[in-house]
Amino acid sequence: MNSIPNEMTAARLYEPGRVVIEQIPTPEPAPGEVLVQIAACGVCGSDVHITVEKSQFLAEYPRTPGHEASGRIVAVGEGTEDWSVGDRVAIWCGIVCGKCESCRAGEENLCDDFKVAGYDWDGAYAQYMRVPVPCLLKLDDRVPFEIGAILSDAVSTPYHALAVRGNLQPGERVAVFGCGGLGIHAVMLAKMLGALEVFAIDPRESALERAKEYGADHLIQVGQGLPPYKQIREATGGRGVDVAIELVGREDSIEEGTKCLARRGRLVLVGIGRIRPKMPLIEPFVAFSHSILGSFGARKEDLMQLLGYAAEGRFDLSKSISDRRPLEDLNDCLTDLHEKRGDPIRIVIQPNGEMA
Ligand SMILES: [Zn+2]
Ligand SMILES: [Zn+2]
Repeated sequence: MNSIPNEMTAARLYEPGRVVIEQIPTPEPAPGEVLVQIAACGVCGSDVHITVEKSQFLAEYPRTPGHEASGRIVAVGEGTEDWSVGDRVAIWCGIVCGKCESCRAGEENLCDDFKVAGYDWDGAYAQYMRVPVPCLLKLDDRVPFEIGAILSDAVSTPYHALAVRGNLQPGERVAVFGCGGLGIHAVMLAKMLGALEVFAIDPRESALERAKEYGADHLIQVGQGLPPYKQIREATGGRGVDVAIELVGREDSIEEGTKCLARRGRLVLVGIGRIRPKMPLIEPFVAFSHSILGSFGARKEDLMQLLGYAAEGRFDLSKSISDRRPLEDLNDCLTDLHEKRGDPIRIVIQPNGEMA
């Protein structure tokens, strides 16, 4: 085991905008915490909101962002008996109270006092990160670090939306609105969970091509031909889909989502935007028992299930890592993602280079 240096490289956010890559003291784990050497941290759309886009603000600066990470334990604090130096881990990004109604119901992603890594505590765009024990999940030797990292958000968020909120059942039909980093995994997971047919909807041809590689049965390019909901109705003999999932946060795709549902159909909203889409026409909405549901993040249990699927080789995420970059390139990566340059699915930052 290599010794831990006194100083480490970290990406620090002093205000909304660019991160500053600098040397800061390596943190020490407090009781109930471990120190994780970060192997990989996925660059997420929400990182873009707090940096280049300047559309979301943190309660406190400076802060180290990064919330989609994995690594290896290099030091343990007191009271962490179940964990050892050398353990490979995936990091669930939330610190929760464990006492509120949601926590007690096993829905800790809705905790009254939810503190997110990279927002409310220092995250994983650094060589080392202090992680409270409840956030740790064992990463099987068969799962590469970079896959463990992206499971914790880019994959678990659509998984929670489909499997838990959308209650997707085998043999049902699914429509995925928006085939970026989350949507592409929604397509893959819908097939894995037994969906009969998956419709991928996006204005970009390249995104649709990729959706096809991830298992989409029907590709619908927004702006070409009939509106997407009409194409879905046509392809399903008028029936519609059982679960529609919206990952963009756009009025038009949410409205399309309400119009493509079958009887008892569920529209699950994941995309966030300061928008107010039109209510669907109430008569069919009530008569056909439709639902519109919000879905926020994922539970630790969802991530645990995905880590299991990954270890057993139930899905192939090898194409999901678009690029691997050093911490020093983080600002460029955030700009690339913001401008969708090179159409990345997930760029991962490797603050310690390639870790075995
Ligand atoms: Zn994220
Ligand atoms: Zn709570």
